[in-house]
Amino acid sequence: MKRNVSLEEISDGRLYRSNDMVKADCHDCKGCSKCCRGMGSSIVLDPYDIYRLNGGLKLSFQQLLEEYLELNVVDHLTLPNIRMVKETGHCGFLNQEGRCSIHSWRPGICRLFPLGRYYEGKDFRYFLQVHECPHEPKSKVKIKKWIDTPRLKEYETFIREWHSFLKSMEEYILSISDEEEIRNTSLYVLMSFYMKPYDTNADFYPQFYFRLNQAKQLLEG
Ligand code: SF4
Ligand code: SF4
Repeated sequence: MKRNVSLEEISDGRLYRSNDMVKADCHDCKGCSKCCRGMGSSIVLDPYDIYRLNGGLKLSFQQLLEEYLELNVVDHLTLPNIRMVKETGHCGFLNQEGRCSIHSWRPGICRLFPLGRYYEGKDFRYFLQVHECPHEPKSKVKIKKWIDTPRLKEYETFIREWHSFLKSMEEYILSISDEEEIRNTSLYVLMSFYMKPYDTNADFYPQFYFRLNQAKQLLEG
């Protein structure tokens, strides 16, 4: 999701790689869980998040949508995000004890927080959001440990590919004026990468790249 702010306004002014240490670790906050409340539609999910949730919760995309997710337009595409509970404003996965009930399968954005991704061309680096988490002082932690995601290099390559694909889809949508084609393009992304079930007993990445290649061929054709 694009944000119209300068990096200087929201960060410590530095950009990081996964092997860098950063002051992001809030473990001694005793789980204040403020980052799980009032987040609106900002926790946007990527296909790997859905694969993880499908496998972890044994729920299909449709079932997740009925219970925990919602759809919103992000940069001209309809994408899923975590839905905050209407009455309380907190994430539906936050339990009574103020803990994440899906910790092992939590989405990439939750794993990052209070870090964010700063995209430059086809690459990205991490940055520390300095106004989002009230807990101070935070401890230093290596980013790859904080993100807690297996096969991090492959994951980061996937993140780059996915971001670059979304960008090309957005550019394509902006280049056409036919409303129906715009709707169909957005629906195609949603159906191909989210609604079409993943085999959660098989590796995610080959399944993703198969779909990505199909989509690119369509786009080029
Ligand atoms: S998924 Fe877990 S970590 Fe993410 S906002 Fe919900 S409760 Fe918090
Ligand atoms: S990241 Fe910040 S807001 Fe979230 S649980 Fe830790 S201290 Fe609380």
